[in-house]
Amino acid sequence: MRLSVDGLIVYFPYDYIYPEQYSYMCELKKAIDAKGHCLLEMPSGTGKTVTLLALIVAYMRENPHQIRKLIYCSRTVPEIEKVMEEMKKLFEYYETHGIPLNFTGLVLSSRKNLCIHPQVSTEREGKTVDGKCHGLTASYIRERHNSDDTTPICQYYEGFSLDGKESTLPHGVYNLEDLKQFGRDRNWCPYFLARFTITYANIVVYSYHYLLDPKIADVVSKELAKEAVVIFDEAHNIDNVCIDSMSVKIQKRTIEKATANIQLLEKTVAEMREDDQKRLQDEYQRLVDGLKDANIARETDVILSNPILPDEILQEAVPGNIRNAEHFISFLKRFLEYLKTRLRVQHVVQESPVGFLKDVQTKVCIERKPLRFCAERLASLLKTLEISDLTDFSPLILITHLATLVSTYTTGFTIIVEPFDDKTPTVSNPILYFSCLDSSIAMKPVFDRFQTVVITSGTLSPLDMYPKILNFHPVIMSSFTMTLARPCLLPMIISKGNDQVAISSKFETREDNAVIRNYGQLLVEVAANVPDGIVCFFTSYLYLESTVASWYDQGVIDSLQRYKLLFIETQDSAETSFALMYYIKACESGRGAVLLSVARGKVSEGVDFDHHLGRAVLMFGIPYVYTQSRILKARLDYLRDQFQIRENDFLTFDALRHAAQCVGRAIRGKTDYGIMIFADKRFSRADKRTKLPKWIQEHLKDSYCNLSTEEGVQLAKRWLRQMAQPFTREDQLGVSLLTLEQLEAMEARKANDNVEMEAVNGVESCKAGFESISCNHGLKISGPSELRWVDSDHHLGRAVLMFGIPYVYSQCRILKAKLDFLRD
Ligand code: SF4
Repeated sequence: MRLSVDGLIVYFPYDYIYPEQYSYMCELKKAIDAKGHCLLEMPSGTGKTVTLLALIVAYMRENPHQIRKLIYCSRTVPEIEKVMEEMKKLFEYYETHGIPLNFTGLVLSSRKNLCIHPQVSTEREGKTVDGKCHGLTASYIRERHNSDDTTPICQYYEGFSLDGKESTLPHGVYNLEDLKQFGRDRNWCPYFLARFTITYANIVVYSYHYLLDPKIADVVSKELAKEAVVIFDEAHNIDNVCIDSMSVKIQKRTIEKATANIQLLEKTVAEMREDDQKRLQDEYQRLVDGLKDANIARETDVILSNPILPDEILQEAVPGNIRNAEHFISFLKRFLEYLKTRLRVQHVVQESPVGFLKDVQTKVCIERKPLRFCAERLASLLKTLEISDLTDFSPLILITHLATLVSTYTTGFTIIVEPFDDKTPTVSNPILYFSCLDSSIAMKPVFDRFQTVVITSGTLSPLDMYPKILNFHPVIMSSFTMTLARPCLLPMIISKGNDQVAISSKFETREDNAVIRNYGQLLVEVAANVPDGIVCFFTSYLYLESTVASWYDQGVIDSLQRYKLLFIETQDSAETSFALMYYIKACESGRGAVLLSVARGKVSEGVDFDHHLGRAVLMFGIPYVYTQSRILKARLDYLRDQFQIRENDFLTFDALRHAAQCVGRAIRGKTDYGIMIFADKRFSRADKRTKLPKWIQEHLKDSYCNLSTEEGVQLAKRWLRQMAQPFTREDQLGVSLLTLEQLEAMEARKANDNVEMEAVNGVESCKAGFESISCNHGLKISGPSELRWVDSDHHLGRAVLMFGIPYVYSQCRILKAKLDFLRD
């Protein structure tokens, strides 16, 4: 389909389009035109990816100087692969229309997914692959190989460094498998090839971390041009990703392992002093010149990149007291000793980075400046010592990251030392958290650096929260609903059981037997009446466990198993994968099953329960985050003080986006259908309901908001009968699925409606002018002419003639923008 979006010709690789896809393109184009950021919410299953790709590729083709690059960030490898598939379709579509796209689109992933080395690629752990690869590609290993060819190196890296950088990747789309095949054919390493190519490729698809995690972004994404559109897909948890990428957690075990690392370093330095004194001397000299020169061969040293040091610091000389290798080691020892004493606490301690730095200075005489250089200084030392497998050194690397971060940031962070884990309050297990409180710190460089950043997902509501917590000003914020030819989603709020006892996961009623029984009865009745798969979400593992235990005693589990098989998610990911596998098997075989899982758990994100895998989703309670957590409290205080976000608003926003995320698992497209049951009376309150995404709210009628179990089940039964009727593509055509002609007709109709409305306003204005003759009120008449300010009273206007219908000039861009705004 070849369509025009506000004058831009867009090639869309399908014969049909959803109306919301078209509206999405219009809004996206406005944001790109305005060179600003935007926030777009559209439910999953409505073809967001292809919409984004089609519009932006068309824009890049027509305005190559305005947009030179598209950076598409997604979260998981399967999601990234889906993007590549859509991109391939789009490129093929252009080709079939005789328009070859001279673009290169590729994916960048970790070494684990791209390595083709026969031994290294068999490793299952990402860190091990990184470490082993480093052991074959580090600059000094390669140098050593030159003099001693028994030292192993990687032939693919050598192949790439020999000719890979001279040539460019031919135009086209490369997914993970394509890159690997290309690498095998040329004898080039696909990982380094992809990393090198992203600087000139037109479309890059990779994980969030390559842009948000400063430890990686600095090395990988540094060279990208400003004239780029950055997309964060499935971005509902983007604030948490930002925070995690800037936070560090130190346990007693980390310190013990780091101490062992230091001992090993000490030994290696001593050996080197005896054998190769010059090497250490050279390093010293390089450090005098600045870190930048000390780390020229950074390409293969990605794991060791510093977390945040700005460029000008890298140019500076490294402080004298950590330049010498032995001095640096004793410096690290002192810092570790200090951390060890800090972990000896009986009660919780919270302090600011400034307080922490002051304490470090008083207790162990360590200044702020050398701390800042710690991460880079260690990187340099490990390189000098030719330590190739860095996996073992990760505890020490973590400690140096903490040192660098704590001495670089003074606001937006907090330090909390807890004597034990919340889950095991009787066992001493001290933990030091260096926690980021402000997600905008990681996002700021991205917003500042790139022209347009698109934050999009199916569950971003309430939209106004994201600009506050990420601290940016979007030019467009829109929420699109799912146009449907039949009501294929049935959201409802069950607020009481058949005995009229209110149900809620509220702390006070959580243990109440009547509430637990009512939850159980609800599940049993749903299982008895809804076919195939049913997924239930609890607010926490603890709540899930205690409820299931009570259900055993109350006989709920026995009743449930009469209808369906039961599977339970646990904290062990292998166990959960197993349960999930058998749950799918049971649904496929027609037996039907119930899966009990937890909001914020593995199943709630990333696993789709489409069609028969999830005909009903039950949300037992509102999934508020654990509010006794000190880190959360500190963050809430920070959000209140810095961004004026009230504690309650943030907690509700967070809980409802997770609830929406959970129930949204059941609907993954327009041919799918599913029931969404919010089982907590608090959902029916306006402050909660209005925070759900627009596409759920629209189907949540008032009469569905305060139901008892029986009423809810009756409603579901009626609705399921309706859904069981045959449903074909023809039923959707013209309503939720459009051909090009239908789309154009719809747009023309809309434009006409708007223009007519304007004309009616014009006539009204003139009528008002006429009326003023008799009433002499001196009405203000709206309209384009100067005469609108003139009162035609008394003899000045005994008659008014309206020559024609005063349509406004409809080619005017301002008017068009207004019409779009009114329509939306
Ligand atoms: S250079 Fe490439 S192919 Fe060789 S080990 Fe590293 S990732 Fe694997």
